[in-house]
Amino acid sequence: MLQKTSHFMKQANLINGEWVQADSGQTVDVINPATSLKIGTVPKSGAAETRRAIEAAEEAFQSFRKTSALERSALLRKLHDAIMDNQDALAELLTMEQGKSLTEARGEVGSSAAYVLWFAEEARRAYGDVVPSPWRDRRVLVTKEPVGVIAAITPWNFPSSMLSRKLGPALAAGCTAVVKPASQTPYSGLAWGALCEEVGFPKGVVNIVTGSAGAIGDELCANPLVKKLTFTGSTEVGKMLIEKCASTVKKVSMELGGNAPFLVFDDADIDRAVQGAIAAKFRNSGQTCVCTNRFFVQAGIHDAFVEKLAEASAKLKVGPGLNEGVQQGPLIDVNAVEKVEEFIEDAVTKGGKVVTGGKRHELGGSFFEPTVIAGATAQMKFMKEEIFGPLAPVFKFETEEEAVALANDTEFGLACYFYTGDLGRAFRVMEGLKYGMVGVNEGIITTPEAPFGGVKESGLGREGGHQGMDDYLDTKYVCIGGL
Ligand code: ADP
Repeated sequence: MLQKTSHFMKQANLINGEWVQADSGQTVDVINPATSLKIGTVPKSGAAETRRAIEAAEEAFQSFRKTSALERSALLRKLHDAIMDNQDALAELLTMEQGKSLTEARGEVGSSAAYVLWFAEEARRAYGDVVPSPWRDRRVLVTKEPVGVIAAITPWNFPSSMLSRKLGPALAAGCTAVVKPASQTPYSGLAWGALCEEVGFPKGVVNIVTGSAGAIGDELCANPLVKKLTFTGSTEVGKMLIEKCASTVKKVSMELGGNAPFLVFDDADIDRAVQGAIAAKFRNSGQTCVCTNRFFVQAGIHDAFVEKLAEASAKLKVGPGLNEGVQQGPLIDVNAVEKVEEFIEDAVTKGGKVVTGGKRHELGGSFFEPTVIAGATAQMKFMKEEIFGPLAPVFKFETEEEAVALANDTEFGLACYFYTGDLGRAFRVMEGLKYGMVGVNEGIITTPEAPFGGVKESGLGREGGHQGMDDYLDTKYVCIGGL
């Protein structure tokens, strides 16, 4: 297996087309969460390496910005093909460092490629405007230009696809990039460097630096050559980065935490709702920002839904992601397990009932049983906080108004889901939910064609859709006079 992945498993920074170690020679270990064994190391870099990467990106920008949209589109299409040609190898590398099942890893790599292809197409449609002029002797033009060097900080839960949503539009727009992948899962990020080199992106266009989040992040935020920071991760870190970017007035886009509600009304197709619930909850072992955090089920079907959800959850096959047929891998580390345990303990002491699961899996390590808790109440911690694990709390509600109010009672506003067979209710509830994304009778809704992003404290900006290009482009107004 390592044979296949080794070509992409880079254990070095990529700066100005060179694979290099940290100045100090120090490294960080990368651990396979399914075995707790070391896979390899990456450089423990800091501000100095980051500064060099930024300077390389700035130099590369001077020529990359002049490439035509068609040239960039062609490079991105090649990148798409290279990802798909190596889907299995990239998926194995992803499973090894992140833990998700091979099926999900293949899906994530496929999704990365799909975003790249989408932005290869969008590269050619970064239209400006010619606006009817209020003057007889002047013309009004509005053009779009790449913002310049962008910095991308990505998380460990989707180390491949989160980067594709940032690098795709950045490269399509003509920007150059400095990337900092999460230290737990750096190899899927570094693989982007190998792939970009392979398909012919010029040196310095994509730079990748691993190591100290604080030191690298501070330099990315403070350096005036960086014109935009794009971040996916926790709301806490996101807020800090927004503040740090204020000193140089950078554009920021933020994909932060969620607290997704999943509403099931009495008139819903219950089997479809259970199927959607399993996908929306247990995908990536519950470690996604759009995973359901709270289930709200109407009284008339509550008991039947809980029974069916528990039955389906208990059937999920837990194990090492590389094993055939596994549906739920380990959590990223033992800290994540402890957090889930805290949520369960808090709920049980406040009257919640564990219907299935509830404890560490017999496989040990960071494996955890898919868990359903009934009798959830607004006093329990998961009402406000993101679980990020395989725990499904179920609340009971009576009326539509009550359900929408409960769903909105959070500072987050990323994704939400609801199931109903009533058309009027579908519109009322969709309009009432204060979220950036709504799944109606669907539990998995992400696709490159649609804008992904949140409202409230879940973030700023959108990734994917034609909107996904906006954050990487500056608008320039040109007035041509003297006609
Ligand atoms: P999570 O809870 O998903 O690990 P984090 O927000 O802690 O979310 O991490 C997401 C990304 O942000 C990772 O790449 C991490 O290394 C990075 N990060 C964490 N702390 C900082 C920081 N102080 N400055 C810059 N980046 C950071």
